[in-house]
Amino acid sequence: MLDVSHVTKKYGKTEACRDVSFHLDPGTVTVLLGPNGAGKSTIMKSIIGFLRYSGTIRVNGLDNRSLEARRILGYVPELPFLYPNLTVSEHMEFLARAYRLQNYGGRSEELLERFELTGQKRKFGDELSKGMQQKLSLCLGLLPDPEVILLDEPMIGLDPKAIRELKSMIEEMRASGKTILVSTHIIDTVDMLWDRTVIMQGGTVRANITRGELDDTGRSLEELFFKVTEDGSNGK
Ligand code: ADP
Repeated sequence: MLDVSHVTKKYGKTEACRDVSFHLDPGTVTVLLGPNGAGKSTIMKSIIGFLRYSGTIRVNGLDNRSLEARRILGYVPELPFLYPNLTVSEHMEFLARAYRLQNYGGRSEELLERFELTGQKRKFGDELSKGMQQKLSLCLGLLPDPEVILLDEPMIGLDPKAIRELKSMIEEMRASGKTILVSTHIIDTVDMLWDRTVIMQGGTVRANITRGELDDTGRSLEELFFKVTEDGSNGK
């Protein structure tokens, strides 16, 4: 479903990603782990088509920057991007129009309800607390019901109820065959729900392992993380 192949991205002289490759299957959750500065956001922004890079990224066999691929891809950025002078409802409407969504009203209501934003619908972007902004950003990313969804540090700033809601949504998306990539530097927040983990450090992939393969080693995800990021081995 998603193929990242030999992707390298430089910001001036800084090499944010070097020769990054991985493949994600439909109906799976992949956790992209790594310390701050590992290159997680850079690879996510490359997949979504926000950055120029060398290498290839294909979604369902399509170039990720093609119009067809963009319809399949969804993204929730690490920092919410909201308009200060649009209300919560207007943000949802704006996104629905941009994506030319039909009959989105029910899904929009359901998302706002699940993230406890129904009572905030008339508030403007700059009247929302940080956590509410994060929740609205999630609702906006999920509204088009994308086949492939990238969530960049999605749990940061969320209250426990919203974290529980998001985790159950991720499980529902997996059950309906979506491809989900969640980046985080906090291992605990994702421990329950991953099928594959890709660990990055210093712009490169240090480990790429399924849950079953990790179970066979007898190690926990945290143990693997520290093994590959602290002693420089590939975790094997
Ligand atoms: P992560 O998401 O894992 O914390 P990033 O992808 O944000 O890591 O950053 C990877 C590297 O690229 C870091 O060294 C960071 O300082 C650098 N970097 C990220 N964005 C920019 C930018 N816009 N300009 C210059 N350097 C950047």
